[in-house]
Amino acid sequence: MPQVTRDDIVSVLKRIAAPDGRGNLVSAGLVSEISIQDGTVMFAISTDPQHVKTMELLRAAVEKAVAAIPGVSKAIVALTAERPPQREPGPRAQAAQRGQAVPGIRHIVAVASGKGGVGKSTTAINIALGLKALGLRVAVLDADVYGPSMPKLFGLSGKPQAADVEGKKMKPMERFGVELMSIGFLVAEDTPMIWRGPMVMSALTQLLRETAWSETDVMIVDMPPGTGDAQLTLAQQTPLSGAVIVSTPQDLALIDARKGLNMFRKVNVPVLGIVENMSYFVCDGCGKRHEIFGHGGAREEAERLGVTFLGEVPLDRDVRLRSDRGEPVTATLPDGQHAAIYRDIARKVWEAVEQGGLARPAPRIVMDS
Ligand code: ADP
Repeated sequence: MPQVTRDDIVSVLKRIAAPDGRGNLVSAGLVSEISIQDGTVMFAISTDPQHVKTMELLRAAVEKAVAAIPGVSKAIVALTAERPPQREPGPRAQAAQRGQAVPGIRHIVAVASGKGGVGKSTTAINIALGLKALGLRVAVLDADVYGPSMPKLFGLSGKPQAADVEGKKMKPMERFGVELMSIGFLVAEDTPMIWRGPMVMSALTQLLRETAWSETDVMIVDMPPGTGDAQLTLAQQTPLSGAVIVSTPQDLALIDARKGLNMFRKVNVPVLGIVENMSYFVCDGCGKRHEIFGHGGAREEAERLGVTFLGEVPLDRDVRLRSDRGEPVTATLPDGQHAAIYRDIARKVWEAVEQGGLARPAPRIVMDS
């Protein structure tokens, strides 16, 4: 049997992505001292105690990969909550890490919702197109790994091409003058997507960092719905300039929206504002405005929470039909009232981004009579 060396093991570990998708296990400083005794290899991977469950999958995979190296008779890989001392980042280093920009992309804005089905993706694409209409260079990253709908909303299919001969980066897809990358381009539609936290992160980090984006003023990230671990990690580890929360007027959705808000606050990402979607319905026949879910809940909630209210989008057949046909209203009906609403929301989003996400509604002045 050949003698296995530490270098053999390190070179295999270097091919395994770190769970947060930033580099590999070795470059992320997650691997402890490696001990080799008569073909038995032992080391530990450090992990955040909160993520032990998902890390167990990684641990088992690493163990298998190391055991397959010629000269290794047994691999014992443990998880430890302790980080190797040399790489413990302080709060400043952590902030710097989060801020690690994607070259060529000035701002990244997440569009999120506390739960699915509130029209997050529809809002995301139309905000992106609204920003484009303002003359900005715009890209969209579909991070909704559980149900990537951006290819359909953009009316795009096919596979991204390699951007260079080595095939290291992919060219983004493009339509309406907006670049798009989605996990939906890379996996068949009927593939079950059982993504666990770490896998979600590495897939997304790859999409974000291994796409040859053009120079971009603002990238819109369509987040996976909800406020679970995967979303939190994503919010924490993408260099976000801010987040937009989409909510329907129902109370329940607002409770969810509040969770979304808290999630971003927890990781110090400025919340740029709330959009109320499916806010009201204008009847084709009588032209009357019907407030099906009640109305104004999001505006009041935004005020209460001290967050900018970005606008309200009606429930409208055109919005849905065109979305489903891959002809988003903001691009295909630019003179319509919906495009105007989305452009207005986009303008407020951009203003908030440019002000560092610190936009707050002006304090209300209450006059005593
Ligand atoms: P999410 O991303 O929150 O799951 P989607 O954007 O996929 O939601 O929207 C869910 C469904 O609602 C889609 O069929 C979409 O066309 C429709 N929809 C979204 N917003 C509106 C709207 N303002 N008016 C009419 N239909 C809408």
